[in-house]
Amino acid sequence: MQSQKSIRDGYQASPWEPEAESPSAKSNFSQAVIYDCLIVGAGITGLTAALKLQLAGKSTVIAEAYNLGYGTTGGTSAHINTFADTTYMEVKQAFGEQGAQLFADAVNGGYNIIRDNIAKYGIDCDYEEKPGYLYAEDEQQMKALDQVVEGARMVGVSVNYTENVPIPVPHQKAATLPGQAQFHPLKYLNALAAEYIKAGGIILNNTFINEVESSDDVHAAKAGDISIQASNVVYATHMPPGINVFNMRCAPYRSYVVAVKLQNDADCPDALIYDLQEPYHYFRTHVINGEKLLLIGGNDHKTGHDDPEAAFNDLEKYIKRYFDVQEVKYRWSSQYYVPADGLPYIGQIPMQADGIWCATGYNGNGMMLATISGDILADLIVDKQNEFAELMSTKRLKPIDGFTEFVKENADVAYHFVADRFGIEKLNALNELQAGTGKVIEIDGEKVAAYKDEQGAVHALSPVCTHMKCFVNWNAAEKSWDCPCHGARYDIDGKVITGPARQPLQPL
Ligand SMILES: Cc1cc2nc3c(=O)[nH]c(=O)nc-3n(C[C@H](O)[C@H](O)[C@H](O)COP(=O)(O)OP(=O)(O)OC[C@H]3O[C@@H](n4cnc5c(N)ncnc54)[C@H](O)[C@@H]3O)c2cc1C
Repeated sequence: MQSQKSIRDGYQASPWEPEAESPSAKSNFSQAVIYDCLIVGAGITGLTAALKLQLAGKSTVIAEAYNLGYGTTGGTSAHINTFADTTYMEVKQAFGEQGAQLFADAVNGGYNIIRDNIAKYGIDCDYEEKPGYLYAEDEQQMKALDQVVEGARMVGVSVNYTENVPIPVPHQKAATLPGQAQFHPLKYLNALAAEYIKAGGIILNNTFINEVESSDDVHAAKAGDISIQASNVVYATHMPPGINVFNMRCAPYRSYVVAVKLQNDADCPDALIYDLQEPYHYFRTHVINGEKLLLIGGNDHKTGHDDPEAAFNDLEKYIKRYFDVQEVKYRWSSQYYVPADGLPYIGQIPMQADGIWCATGYNGNGMMLATISGDILADLIVDKQNEFAELMSTKRLKPIDGFTEFVKENADVAYHFVADRFGIEKLNALNELQAGTGKVIEIDGEKVAAYKDEQGAVHALSPVCTHMKCFVNWNAAEKSWDCPCHGARYDIDGKVITGPARQPLQPL
């Protein structure tokens, strides 16, 4: 087993990276073997599924484009909750009361798997259980809070109204949910990887799967010169790559987190706290490198639709309004996917060969939902009954009123955002571009995604996203080119860092 330092899909470091080693185990890998299962992606979905399959006696290979936790699992804020962004009342409206109950059981099922793994394998991952608080600041939010409370009670999730929220933000009404939790996501992931390797599993890092060819029940996944043969392929890539039905069923969002050192450690709440603004803010405390830090997250927006620097600045301003901040220690952003009808999609990918699976659309709740998805996928592959599989099946692709329009409208809004705000500008020379920044500009009638590095060298790319031909937009905070249509992201040299794109941006 070898290991390398973790990096993630953005320029800003998350606090989870420095401590995390990314293991690889490739010595037993053979291109001649047909494995039972190939898992594409080493985030929390991939590791959960891989460990369960390997322990069930299925020969499993994980192919990860970069390293363990490179995707959103390395940029998460790692709350483990008994409730979700899609409230239980919303699920009841779309899937009935039984559906809401099943969804609550699935959320709690994911939570319990994490807790059980930590206990069973003795994982040291800063796991702590704490009370949660939700608070409302106006009339409308009070109604939303009542809905959350009613929904939680309906499905048997413990919740009580309370007067006190342990942060100094004024509120009109609040509720507390006991038994929420938090952890260090990469310490957890590394421990799952160690167990997986111990059970004989193979991990191939730096293995970007470009395509899969299927014949006679065997899938051959290509990564450069390597071919990995398997009876099943699981895209644990957060969003399956390429053009597929999920592009129109899930909308990509960027979300922001800031970790600050306060003047007084005692002001850090010993709780997980959420407001009900749109988009919301949340607060929690984590000791990182021996320092107590307050994590504040939120300011989410559709990928490529807003200014990421402004989102960070707003978040910092917001926190400084209520807390005495000594120093901003970390700021990072990452991506999640909002599903059309509020629930994840888990199962075989429609209109693809049998035995090609995926899970996506976890909203901001992937710790529980990715975990339960990994569990469900493993059951489906070994043909075992799983009580949650049908509710969240990929087969439920009924049209959702308004969502397709919403995705189309996104693309249009994003076009205007790029054109009007950042400006597709005619520059006679690239001199005007500041070092360390990027912009879509026009040179001799041709659109160019140009990034000027600190040494003054220009990295010039076609701005046309290779997924579905939208124009990418510069993300100044993470130094990436982000597609506003389906969330594909590229680094300054055009390399894919986030799907669903498979091919790099064309160099010019
Ligand atoms: C800022 C933020 C905060 C969040 N906070 C919380 C929270 O507090 N609680 C919670 O429950 N959820 C939270 N979430 C959501 C949660 O983090 C995610 O849902 C979860 O991490 C997704 O895990 P995953 O394994 O599915 O995907 P990822 O972690 O993104 O892993 C996918 C992996 O696939 C790899 N990959 C992609 N394409 C290929 C390819 N072609 N070949 C090989 N490998 C490939 C990537 O490199 C990546 O490592 C948050 C999300 C964000 C953005």
